[in-house]
Amino acid sequence: MAGQREGKSLVVIGGGICGLSAALTWAINKDCKINPVTLVEKEPKTGGFVTSYEREGFLFDTCQMIPNMDKVLEYLGIKIDLKQFRGYYMRIFLVNPDTREVKKLEIPSGVETFKQYLVSRYPEDAKAVGDFLDYSRDMFMELHKMKVEPKIPDILRMLVSCRKIIKNSSKTFKEYMEQFGITNPEVCEIFNVFSAFSALPEEKVAALVPVSAMNSLLDGAFRPTEGFIEFPKSLEKRFLECGGILKTRAAAEEIITENGRVKAVRTKGGETFPADYVITTVDPKFAMTRLLDFSALQELDRDFADKVSSVKMSTSSMNISLGLDDKLDLAGLGMDCGYNVITTGGETFNQLWEVFEKGEIGFSESRFHLGVICPSLTTGGKPNLTIRVVPMALGEWAELRKMDRKAYNQEKERLGDFFIDLVEQYLIPDLKRHIVVKNIASPATYARYSGSPTGSIYDMAPYIDNFGRTRLKMRTPVKGLYQPKFVHGVFGALLGGVQAVDMILEGEVMNGNARF
Ligand SMILES: Cc1cc2nc3c(=O)[nH]c(=O)nc-3n(C[C@H](O)[C@H](O)[C@H](O)COP(=O)(O)OP(=O)(O)OC[C@H]3O[C@@H](n4cnc5c(N)ncnc54)[C@H](O)[C@@H]3O)c2cc1C
Repeated sequence: MAGQREGKSLVVIGGGICGLSAALTWAINKDCKINPVTLVEKEPKTGGFVTSYEREGFLFDTCQMIPNMDKVLEYLGIKIDLKQFRGYYMRIFLVNPDTREVKKLEIPSGVETFKQYLVSRYPEDAKAVGDFLDYSRDMFMELHKMKVEPKIPDILRMLVSCRKIIKNSSKTFKEYMEQFGITNPEVCEIFNVFSAFSALPEEKVAALVPVSAMNSLLDGAFRPTEGFIEFPKSLEKRFLECGGILKTRAAAEEIITENGRVKAVRTKGGETFPADYVITTVDPKFAMTRLLDFSALQELDRDFADKVSSVKMSTSSMNISLGLDDKLDLAGLGMDCGYNVITTGGETFNQLWEVFEKGEIGFSESRFHLGVICPSLTTGGKPNLTIRVVPMALGEWAELRKMDRKAYNQEKERLGDFFIDLVEQYLIPDLKRHIVVKNIASPATYARYSGSPTGSIYDMAPYIDNFGRTRLKMRTPVKGLYQPKFVHGVFGALLGGVQAVDMILEGEVMNGNARF
């Protein structure tokens, strides 16, 4: 192995997809008898945000839709049965709250099909839309030529090979779209859904993030046929087969350092795991300020520490999982697709975001944006439905849950019913009559399970000042300590884990590239 002595140990903190992927990548590349890898996870099982759970015979998933990630899965030696959404993979229901009129837009899969759909639907915008899509495709493909930690010759090469990414690196998605003269509100509405998928409104999100979300989903949108839990199950199984050590119910409490280098990880209960390298995949602010001695970090690298302090985390969420009787024709209602968005459009997501930033809830009868998904049309089993609501701040949720469980449950029910009513009004008539089981997850649920103090479901938010060159670095100033977390999604989490090990192994896995 280039430049490395044998007999090194790695400890990975957090057994979500990112941690599993990091730990497995090490186990694939190293002889674990000589170079042990230990994964410490605070919960009894791995998976983090990616899981499936059963309630009264209904199987619910946390996640909903993923892009094609074949290459990384193949590298990791994982095979998961995925259903690809053909035809349309997403529908947008654009609601006029005054008249209650609904316009339905069905977004087809495939880059060319999508282009043709838009060009024929909006002929007067055909040129702008065509230019936007072609340019965005090229920009997305440039990602394959990016290096994570470019050296001077790489930078010189990237100035040519990644021109579009560099040119637009300081633009928001809104500014980026404006360059092409896209002003038709309905066309903007369609493109803006990808910034909502990127967890920020178009006025704030770095352009490359929704451009990547759009292109990767157009290349294929998928859902595991056996439930999302297949991801952690398969990764964990392979990790153990490769000789990795898994410690569950082991919450990391301290990353121990000496002379600016990692030495060990101490878990609750006092067990200590010596480590030459540590990859932390828990909330990055939490890891850097609470697991690590933050004042020592400040002394080591003031700029990095300041960056940790200034980084804003992404939104939390409310998820309403509904078990239904078998009397609704969900397929007939067109629910066999990856995602349905019901939105009042226009400035909705921006306005919701402004309220979110104050820690409040901005949804009302005349301003809403929600996702509705039907997992059971893919996974089989008893019919179910998920309503997914972002942005949602932690606000008072955790405190309320702790202080007054009854009031907390009532508030969850109240809001849950409000969102169910909207779905009934605009997408599934008579929905309420068919509900058999209701399970509501609040931001407090996500904070509890992930350990993220803000309950953030997408890690750091990809604002312009925390993306690309300005992103909180994966390689921390503490030697041997890495934090690959970023605005993720399942694919990003999987990739981030591989990237962190690639850094430790000096490019042995993916040659320092940004994409596998
Ligand atoms: C409701 C919901 C729906 C989503 N839908 C989608 C979707 O449709 N498509 C998509 O691509 N993405 C989706 N995401 C996002 C995606 O699930 C995450 O981006 C991804 O799973 C993050 O993985 P991770 O390993 O980085 O972090 P996490 O999943 O947060 O894992 C962190 C792990 O660390 C553990 N941990 C925390 N603190 C400690 C500690 N001190 N010591 C030890 N262990 C600790 C936690 O228990 C957890 O297992 C969704 C997320 C949520 C919550």
